[in-house]
Amino acid sequence: MGQMFKKSLRAIFLLAVLCAVAISGTLISPAGAQQQGTDRKLIAYAEQISGDTFPFVTRTSNGVRVFARSRPRTEVLVAINEGFTELFRIARRHGYTRRLNYSDYTVFIGRADRLKDSQGNYSPDVAVPAGQYAGSGYDQGGFIYAGGMVLTFNPSAFLIAEHDRAWQRVSNVVRYEGEHLVLYFNDRALYNKTADHSTGGYHPILQ
Ligand SMILES: [Zn+2]
Repeated sequence: MGQMFKKSLRAIFLLAVLCAVAISGTLISPAGAQQQGTDRKLIAYAEQISGDTFPFVTRTSNGVRVFARSRPRTEVLVAINEGFTELFRIARRHGYTRRLNYSDYTVFIGRADRLKDSQGNYSPDVAVPAGQYAGSGYDQGGFIYAGGMVLTFNPSAFLIAEHDRAWQRVSNVVRYEGEHLVLYFNDRALYNKTADHSTGGYHPILQ
């Protein structure tokens, strides 16, 4: 077993948490830019990446802003809170202090473009442009299936897929996407080293 077994386990793990970081440079707005204009650009960008629209907006009980296609289930909002709670706890342990407020974050919940991974496990993922994964084993022909995707640093926003169960997976994806953003603002060197999973590095990055 050894080698083969380890290899396939690693592939499953990577697929389960695969995520993309695609940053639109134009979105990083100068300080003082009108919030409304920033939101319009952010929403337009999220729509472009996901192919969805996000008419529903709410906040979790802890203050995370959530855009969705329709009202998310309470379990989803709770799972989002829990993902951030875990992320912030670990980030503080590393001495990080920036972007550790729930209200610093915006989460888009898009339609899942597949519900099961290649092993048949429940794994709602979004199809996003292949980007750094183009030509890799994950490339499905110009796109990849990702558990989540960082959209912008300012505001700190990412995209996840709709789930109707497996709430722990929602928390994990939130924590994992959030890791990229926390690292960007607190440890740029480690961010640069770990942002691109096509060249190595996987989640959780911070233990
Ligand atoms: Zn990632």
